[in-house]
Amino acid sequence: MSILIKNTTVLTQDKNRRILKNTDVLVSENIISKIGKFNEKAEFVIDGRDKILMPGFVNTHTHAAMSLFKGFGDDMELNEWLEKKIWPAEAKLTPEYTYFGSLLSIAEMIKTGTTAFNDMYFFMESVSDAAKKACMRVIVCDAVIDFFDEKKAEITKNRTLKLLTYVTGLNDSLIRAATGSHAIYTCSPESIISQKRIADKNKILMHMHVSETQKEVNDCIKKNKMRPVEYLEKLGVLGENVVFAHACYLSKKEIDIVKKHNVKIAHCPVSNMKLATGGVIDWSYMRSKNVCVSLATDGHSSNNNLDMFKEMKMAALLQKHARMDATVMPAQDTLDMATLGGAQALGINAGRIAVGALADIILLDKKDISLVPQNDIVSNIVYSANGSCVDTTIINGSIVMQNRKLTTLDEDKIKEKCIDIAMTLCTD
Ligand SMILES: [Zn+2]
Repeated sequence: MSILIKNTTVLTQDKNRRILKNTDVLVSENIISKIGKFNEKAEFVIDGRDKILMPGFVNTHTHAAMSLFKGFGDDMELNEWLEKKIWPAEAKLTPEYTYFGSLLSIAEMIKTGTTAFNDMYFFMESVSDAAKKACMRVIVCDAVIDFFDEKKAEITKNRTLKLLTYVTGLNDSLIRAATGSHAIYTCSPESIISQKRIADKNKILMHMHVSETQKEVNDCIKKNKMRPVEYLEKLGVLGENVVFAHACYLSKKEIDIVKKHNVKIAHCPVSNMKLATGGVIDWSYMRSKNVCVSLATDGHSSNNNLDMFKEMKMAALLQKHARMDATVMPAQDTLDMATLGGAQALGINAGRIAVGALADIILLDKKDISLVPQNDIVSNIVYSANGSCVDTTIINGSIVMQNRKLTTLDEDKIKEKCIDIAMTLCTD
């Protein structure tokens, strides 16, 4: 299919961060094929006069099916919340529930301008199926947890291999598999090493939670006489295909190690604040060392939405507030994390509007009250807008939402189904 968006404002996110006025953008198949002023025919033409065209957001750390637990057990202490609420509810999850919970999240993501996400959870075949149904770009990995038990490690390894086979069988360029380790305190070193080997052998990503809490760091120092990133380096599992979610408690030395191995960071500011972890990512030092930092919402239980506009605002405010410096993390850098940073972290040829890039594009309603007046479009997007200003979402050259209506999913049906499922799962 070809799509032509006429006379629009283009937020390119190119090297010079140019914003082009009154410009046409042509999408051919799944690629952006032309940008400028031209007379070209296309199967589908969109009048872009009242729109802002920009790259879709890349959410680099999610647990999509946790949408089913939205608002269930908020404002509780972490352990009590896990033991009394989340773990009993998760024990009742099925592949079908996971499928619908993932669809609910995917619908929310498309409606708030996200065009790719990096998901870690259970029943990942169901997440893959949901993404395929929606025409959503995703990287799926199992939440590998073995609690230092060899038998469980073997089971999780086999599950990872099974997922790889399943995703390969889908033969869909939008769905990719990754390996994962939940965290250093839930996985044995052998299991983490094994997941990394599978990732390297298959040229795929490895996704894990790292240095989310002070306790995790303290326990690691006690047990291994070194900090988490030093420990992971010693295991030999760092590399450019590794994504660390959180990384709030990295020392400067650990950030240097992250840079040395070109590990990618998925920064989750809302989740960190909501769970009161107290850790604030050392973004300025990471930036000065050119570390790839992307942005992520984490799951609904610690957010409680997947709106990357809100995540950008929170990221910028958290840095300014914590550092007592209003110049830290300016709007453009924040937007870069949510687009270019995410695409780089996940190895997707997107995150910018350029000829040859994948057509993962969103159109914002320029007349939305949050975007008026346009003294500074980037500032408006980061500090003023929210996901409801997204009018159209295009993923891999397919229109998955137009005029805020989803084209690949039945939103009402998904909502109805998820209300029923949540009633079954979220009971005390
Ligand atoms: Zn997480």
